[in-house]
Amino acid sequence: MQPRLVINATGGWIDIANAALLPADTRPARLMGGTKGSHLIIDNPALRDILGGHMIYYENEDGRICILFPYLGKVLVGSTDIRVDDPGTVRCGADERDYILQSLAFVLPGVRIRPEEIVFQFAGVRPLPASNDSFTGRIPRDHFCTVLEDREGGPPVLCMIGGKWTTFRSFGALAADMALERLDWSRRVDTADRTFGGGRVFPKDRSGWIRDLSESSGVSLDRVAMLFERYGTDAEGVVRFTAAGPDYLMPHTGYSARELLYLIRTEAVEHLDDLLLRRTTLAITGELSLDTAEAALDLLATEKGWPAPRKAEERSHFLTLMRERHGVAEATLSARNEQRSELCETTERSG
Ligand SMILES: Cc1cc2nc3c(=O)[nH]c(=O)nc-3n(C[C@H](O)[C@H](O)[C@H](O)COP(=O)(O)OP(=O)(O)OC[C@H]3O[C@@H](n4cnc5c(N)ncnc54)[C@H](O)[C@@H]3O)c2cc1C
Repeated sequence: MQPRLVINATGGWIDIANAALLPADTRPARLMGGTKGSHLIIDNPALRDILGGHMIYYENEDGRICILFPYLGKVLVGSTDIRVDDPGTVRCGADERDYILQSLAFVLPGVRIRPEEIVFQFAGVRPLPASNDSFTGRIPRDHFCTVLEDREGGPPVLCMIGGKWTTFRSFGALAADMALERLDWSRRVDTADRTFGGGRVFPKDRSGWIRDLSESSGVSLDRVAMLFERYGTDAEGVVRFTAAGPDYLMPHTGYSARELLYLIRTEAVEHLDDLLLRRTTLAITGELSLDTAEAALDLLATEKGWPAPRKAEERSHFLTLMRERHGVAEATLSARNEQRSELCETTERSG
């Protein structure tokens, strides 16, 4: 059966997906002109203290706007803005790392960052409309949709171009309105006032919400508070699931085994990197140790029934991603086993 309409929402990959969907003579030259943006996560308490909870939004020497803010106990600094053709291969290059550190030295000359304080790095692709502007910062950041007709009889393709996280609801509504019009259907549900995810039924009295859930589930107040901070009101599902069986904290982290199991079962986790890079903040905060990665892999492999070779493949793929895309070598992860143990021992002794 052929669909009546295809929606291409592949962000920076939009032209690549169109190439697979439409015959060449139907496709425009190029819709997307993605730019790569890289960021560093820095573990430097002095820098974090200087920020005092604030974000600094500043212009670097070359006129580019950069950003610096406290992030989950570390500091996030970025970013670059470099045109790319293939979003699948982007990574933060050594030149970008230098650029970001230079921009930091420009705005805060007194702060010195040691290489080992960069605990994670990442690059993403901004799905910007194609543009010939030589200064990438001037490319508009708004969004629009366009419908491409397949003159050889295939379904038309509605392409979503541009967009930001902060505008994804209205962008989704725009695409839905265009699709409904095309299909001659009318809208039955409006999203304008709808809350999402952990923002649903968000309590005015947070402490009361946390206390009630703690009392009704038997999970400690501190733990519920941490999960509320992490998931908003979606924490209720996590708390109920963790309370329904024996649970334990993963090595040296604030994530528990049943919490990870809940994410595996409800958040479409198919690979170790889904879990450690995208469904949790373990890797991006620089908290991840080799012990934790191995324990998460054991959990995932058991849940999925993976045989030993598949498990080894997942481990190797994840470690390659960490090394090549995020600047974290296996030796660094391994060294974090020791650091965390020392931290725990010190804490225990001082406690
Ligand atoms: C460095 C940087 C900083 C940013 N800062 C901000 C900010 O401060 N505020 C803000 O609001 N926004 C910000 N953004 C923008 C925001 O990240 C993007 O606008 C948003 O991610 C775009 O969402 P998307 O779903 O359109 O594309 P993406 O998030 O890129 O998702 C597209 C998805 O399609 C998948 N895909 C590709 N090809 C196929 C295929 N053939 N079949 C199936 N799936 C496919 C990809 O794997 C990907 O998961 C920033 C982006 C970057 C890169």
